[in-house]
Amino acid sequence: MRGADQTGWHAADTITVTCSADSRAHEVPDTELAAAARRSDGHYQALCGHRVAAAPMVEPDGQPCLLCAAIVERTTPRRSARQRILG
Ligand SMILES: [Zn+2]
Repeated sequence: MRGADQTGWHAADTITVTCSADSRAHEVPDTELAAAARRSDGHYQALCGHRVAAAPMVEPDGQPCLLCAAIVERTTPRRSARQRILG
């Protein structure tokens, strides 16, 4: 059962995707990428709620989306801090 998909995203399973509309690099859950591949509309729902129109992969990443970054940091605080300390 996967009834909590909308609220149960795990930040560890995200991919950074730059949006061609706002040029921000958003964090998109890999489950959303898989679901979007079936829809083939070219849009992904980022953690922040933004509908990402993926920029061409050859373009460099845009400025990070601060809301996505905050959500990732909030949902995985201890693991990433520990990894930094341990190297
Ligand atoms: Zn975002």
